[in-house]
Amino acid sequence: ILIGMALGILVGAFFKFLLAGEAELTLSLFGAELGLKAFFVDGIFHAGGQIFVASLKMLVVPLVFVSLVCGTSSLSDGSTLGRLGGKSVGLYILTTAVAIALAIFFALLVSPGTGVQMTADTSFSVQQAPSITQVFINMFPSNPVEAMAKGEMLQIIVFSVLFGLAVALTGEAGARIRSLFNDLNEVVMKLVGFMMALAPYGVFFLMAKLFTSLDLKNLESLGWYFSTVLFVLFFHGFIVYGLFISILGRLNPLMFFRKMKDAALFGFSMSSSNATIPVNMETATKKLGVSNSVASFTIPLGATINMDGTAIMQGVATVFIAQVFQVELTTMDYLMVILTATLASVGTAGVPGVGLIMLAMVLQQVGLPVEGIALIIGVDRLLDMTRTAVNITGDAMVSCLIAKSENQFDTECFNNPDAGRNS
Ligand code: ASP
Repeated sequence: ILIGMALGILVGAFFKFLLAGEAELTLSLFGAELGLKAFFVDGIFHAGGQIFVASLKMLVVPLVFVSLVCGTSSLSDGSTLGRLGGKSVGLYILTTAVAIALAIFFALLVSPGTGVQMTADTSFSVQQAPSITQVFINMFPSNPVEAMAKGEMLQIIVFSVLFGLAVALTGEAGARIRSLFNDLNEVVMKLVGFMMALAPYGVFFLMAKLFTSLDLKNLESLGWYFSTVLFVLFFHGFIVYGLFISILGRLNPLMFFRKMKDAALFGFSMSSSNATIPVNMETATKKLGVSNSVASFTIPLGATINMDGTAIMQGVATVFIAQVFQVELTTMDYLMVILTATLASVGTAGVPGVGLIMLAMVLQQVGLPVEGIALIIGVDRLLDMTRTAVNITGDAMVSCLIAKSENQFDTECFNNPDAGRNS
């Protein structure tokens, strides 16, 4: 995967260099004119990347439904499930609050927006963020098929958990359904395995297309903003998660990072926690040693409600925008930012670019101009990729801690460097 990514970046940069400002370059081949950009970049790279992303997304709904039914139907009772839910939500919210507090702290230290003169690109239109009450109401599907068709993750989770509980409580018929779902689960995991085998090529296409068109002209004026977000993302991803894993989980953080590498690269190339669910679930169960009954619940839940990386961008962006527009924020405002960003991450799905929509909610809350988002949109693509890698690493980290505390963790698998390598 790493090789695919590096080659993709190189090829993309090569095409960018080759095209350098030209709309198209044609090559005469056996008398026919071949447009390089149309053939390679908009043709092969684009199609290859999109087919790969679509195939992974295709697996998300069946995988979450099937494995969550397996997971909940094998839990001994409802109180285990309640405890699991309480712990996951608690830890997810805690890590997100830590992330955003760190982001605000470092952003105030660096002051990325002081002295920056920029005019906002007014083409950015603000989307209304949902209210907190609406977030809770939206968790309950009125039609499970519609929820699945639309990929509404929280609704799918609620339905699957209820379905799984009913299976557990239905005696003989329930036992038959459970064994059917266990078999289905194996089949779906096999499909995930197919996709993993294709991953290096998919990642290559995605990177080649992206780096051909990546426009970094705003990087200069946004340099401090960009590097502050990046620094806090790395700090949180390695230091904070490392501490959580070693202190709360009593596990070797180096082993954790080593095993997370592929899934994080996946998240990076796809900018979507949701599309990374299949890979992250496979990593959690086969490489890290988290049991399926825990991972099937914590990973999809985390992909939706746990976005530490996104919260970090929001913290730094709020400070940056306040500084550019010369608005003084009070301590109360910062606390409000922490609260809103944490809650906003619960109600929005992990898909590309959603962080900016959540940022609108945060800015409105503290009375900052929402047009400020237009200032940072130019460098958001690369940051989106990096924060998605952090988001999904956080999901796996919390899954390990919860599995450990529930005795649903295979320490031997975790400590075995080769576990799950050929799955
Ligand atoms: N792309 C991120 C994710 O899927 C969300 C965001 O920060 O925009 O986790």
